[in-house]
Amino acid sequence: MPTTSSVLDALHTGNGQPPTLPPTLSAERLRELAKAATYLETTQERASLVVKAPFSGETVASLPAGAPEDVDEAFRRARAAQKAWAARPYRERARIFECYHDLVLERHEEALDLIQLESGKTRYDAFLEVGDVALVSRYYAYHGAAALAKKHPLGFVPFLTSVEVNHPPVGVVGIIAPWNYPLTMAITDAIPALLAGNAVVVKPAEQTPFTALWAAELLYAAGLPRDLLHMIPGDGPTLGPSLIANADFLHFTGSTEVGKLIARQASERLIGCSLELGGKNPLVVLDDADLHKSVDGAIRDCFASAGQLCVSIERIYIHASLFDAFVQRFKYKIEAMNVAPGFGWDVEMGSLASAEQLDKVTEHVEDAKSKGANVIVGGHPLPHLGPFFYAPTVLTGVTPEMTLYTEETFGPVVSVYPFATDDEAVELANSTAYGLSAGVWSTNIARARSVARLLECGTVNVNETYVAAWGSTAAPMGGFKQSGLGRRHGPAGILKYTEAQTVATQHLLPIAPIAGMAAEAFAGAVLTGLKILKRLPGLR
Ligand code: ADP
Repeated sequence: MPTTSSVLDALHTGNGQPPTLPPTLSAERLRELAKAATYLETTQERASLVVKAPFSGETVASLPAGAPEDVDEAFRRARAAQKAWAARPYRERARIFECYHDLVLERHEEALDLIQLESGKTRYDAFLEVGDVALVSRYYAYHGAAALAKKHPLGFVPFLTSVEVNHPPVGVVGIIAPWNYPLTMAITDAIPALLAGNAVVVKPAEQTPFTALWAAELLYAAGLPRDLLHMIPGDGPTLGPSLIANADFLHFTGSTEVGKLIARQASERLIGCSLELGGKNPLVVLDDADLHKSVDGAIRDCFASAGQLCVSIERIYIHASLFDAFVQRFKYKIEAMNVAPGFGWDVEMGSLASAEQLDKVTEHVEDAKSKGANVIVGGHPLPHLGPFFYAPTVLTGVTPEMTLYTEETFGPVVSVYPFATDDEAVELANSTAYGLSAGVWSTNIARARSVARLLECGTVNVNETYVAAWGSTAAPMGGFKQSGLGRRHGPAGILKYTEAQTVATQHLLPIAPIAGMAAEAFAGAVLTGLKILKRLPGLR
């Protein structure tokens, strides 16, 4: 963050010229979006976040960055507003998100332009983000109440101890979001947190603040009281500690390295946290897989958002009998892909998001090449398309001493390996520290599912790409092993933002000896009671 700026000169390009913007956007519109950042109501000088368009490398705008005091103030306002929000009936809160669902779909063109502008991804990949926000809004608006509903499990003494279990909100939730899915990551984890009755403070990624501000602006327009959601764009290491110091629960999506740091800081305060971290996701193509469908699926799985997707595939295990045919067709289809910058729907893969990403991808591939990997296709940057473009790349002969054998590349690079038996495929797929997502292709669904169940991953897609499990928002999504803690989506994705409170009420008789009964006699009665209860199915 080299320069400083105040809200008054918040938006300009590096050379003083207006930035090149897609049709729905203008400098004036970006200035208006900046108003969704609460802290920009003041005009004090601040460090700048320089937002660049990955398609061209051009500076789009520089936005004043949030400071730790802004986080403190956001939490103060959020806390003051939260109790009244939690007291409103679920249905009332849910109506705002039903409306949000409709507004997001209505205004999707502007969202697509912003997402593409800030991330460099294709219009279709941006569209999946819009769809995801609608899915999550709809699911929690209609199903969140059931997850949070008061439950009445059996009490200690049947009929005499009545129990209710409540799920009050934790209070104010902090969220730290990454840049790779700038819309969905900035808002979809906040939706269940808000619906559970919490207020939320989000720190979106440095590179993609405007998309996050768009998401917040629209939620205010849908009726969310402003102080319940605060977007504070800014630097992670600068704002992270204040977020954790104030939050009652923290959700983080990003690298395993930063996730562990956040978990350590959260543990100091004994607050809960959920973490969705890295992956080195495997795809298993069994010997009876449909060649055409599995190759097409692999293309979508490996190159969506140019591979900058936590659930994208970076390793493919193909049965030896299909290996050559698969690799040949994969190469042929990749060579026909339309890789380009632009806001049209015809582009199949866009840019990497930044120079840092390009450096990392280049480093991984060059390391593999220098140690003997074979490049089947790609293996180089595409500077004629834009400063951060990298060719979709397939490697064979990848061995454990190469960095990308185990480490997440987070780019359009996949290694392919042959295998002989289903057991071997499972063993190879599981030979990683990560466990986020996987895929299996087979024409025998039962066989594919039994392989899927053996994979140590939080989500496994059978005969489809990551979209099947991710888009099934009623089901939990998250990682085994080093890929994270906790889950988003499904009942678990809203319950994590609540406490579990048990209220036990005793009726008629105390749980203690009565009327001069000896303790030993009472213990005998309890023993008899325990034996009887085990025999009564309805009271176990
Ligand atoms: P990536 O490598 O994909 O950029 P990171 O884990 O570095 O993933 O970043 C994800 C999010 O975490 C971003 O919003 C970033 O600003 C934030 N972040 C990075 N470092 C820290 C930190 N030390 N404390 C809190 N947040 C951080």
